[in-house]
Amino acid sequence: MNRIEIINKKRLGLELTKEELKYFFNGYLKEEISDYQMSALLMAICINGMNEEEIFELTDLFINSGDKLDLSSLEPCVDKHSTGGVGDKLTLIIGPIVASLGINMAKMSGRALGHTGGTIDKLESFPGIRLDLTEEEFINNTKKVGFAVTGQTGNLTPLDKKVYALRDITGTVDSIPLIASSIMSKKIASGSTKILIDIKVGNGALIKNMEDAEYLANLMIKIGEKYNRKVVCALSHMNIPLGSNIGNTLEVLEVVDILKNNKLGPLTNFAIELASILVTMVKSIPLSESKDLVVEVLENGKAYDKFKEFIINQGGKFDKLKLSSHKKNIISTQSGYITDIYAKKLGEISMELGAGRVDKYSKIDYSAGIVLHKQVGDYIEEGETLCTLYGKYNTIADDIENYFKISLEEKKVESILIKIIK
Ligand code: URA
Repeated sequence: MNRIEIINKKRLGLELTKEELKYFFNGYLKEEISDYQMSALLMAICINGMNEEEIFELTDLFINSGDKLDLSSLEPCVDKHSTGGVGDKLTLIIGPIVASLGINMAKMSGRALGHTGGTIDKLESFPGIRLDLTEEEFINNTKKVGFAVTGQTGNLTPLDKKVYALRDITGTVDSIPLIASSIMSKKIASGSTKILIDIKVGNGALIKNMEDAEYLANLMIKIGEKYNRKVVCALSHMNIPLGSNIGNTLEVLEVVDILKNNKLGPLTNFAIELASILVTMVKSIPLSESKDLVVEVLENGKAYDKFKEFIINQGGKFDKLKLSSHKKNIISTQSGYITDIYAKKLGEISMELGAGRVDKYSKIDYSAGIVLHKQVGDYIEEGETLCTLYGKYNTIADDIENYFKISLEEKKVESILIKIIK
């Protein structure tokens, strides 16, 4: 087969056959196709797209490039995935909720790079916690507690890993067909039969508009159907940070507050909606009934107890969370309503404070981050605290107030969830 002809075909917007995709992508994994040739093909895909047959074939190649996890002994077992957001701590809220309702969640998670956080980093705020479980430990822990989290076990979807690393540095992440096959291959290889995907939409997100979000959701549902997996997509706003805490220990503390039912607001409502979708997927009851069950385990403390059990079961010292003693309040110089908070900017500041990685070798300060004292819709008086910075604040520019939009006109608070597609 001629690799240049394959690149040219896609450049002209033509369909690639199964054999051509297999030759090119598997050849890349075997290092028979170079980075520059793969980059050219990926760019042609970004520009001209792929049809459903091509997308299914690519997903299949990703899935079959490595190990597959068998979670059949954990049924009913669900998985959840988010396309990434600032302050996104939903896995740690939803996992204990559904586990306390008898639904297993075996969650493979990643680390942070850039301005959004990773679940593994958040959990490492607990000294002693083990997140490098073997496959057997991962399954046994889930059986025992109902919720387990690990970094990747085994060698899942190595082809996606290699292609994603190249996309990241060649401006070829922004392609719905590539995103759909990349995410779904990982979800299918990691074994769950019921999968909830939280697709973030907005300026700071991977997906910028509703049209792309709906296209992506429908593709992922169709890929799921091919592999006998039930996929539901929740489309949600990602312009402002999720909740009030950004940074590893701070986010865990917010999770604890929510699970103790001490914190009402848009993030808690959103977590309840997502957990209820998973309960409905498993129990086949109306969403309103699922919501009642979810609210009940938040109110009676079962979800909180489950979180504690999960941390202790993986070796974490539950009472040993530490916050940085270096802190600085940012004071508002004007009065008015908060109408916007720039998530991406605050995510970057949190990273500079030490909470995130600038490159894959950086060491994280788990005790660093930002607490927002005001949310969109709140009124602030001049002289009141907008937010508190924890960590290395000496090198942070003095313009943080600019990342809060303050206006004399009140803004209605909207729910985080936009719509559900199933
Ligand atoms: N996350 C992934 O895993 N893959 C993509 O392509 C985009 C986001």
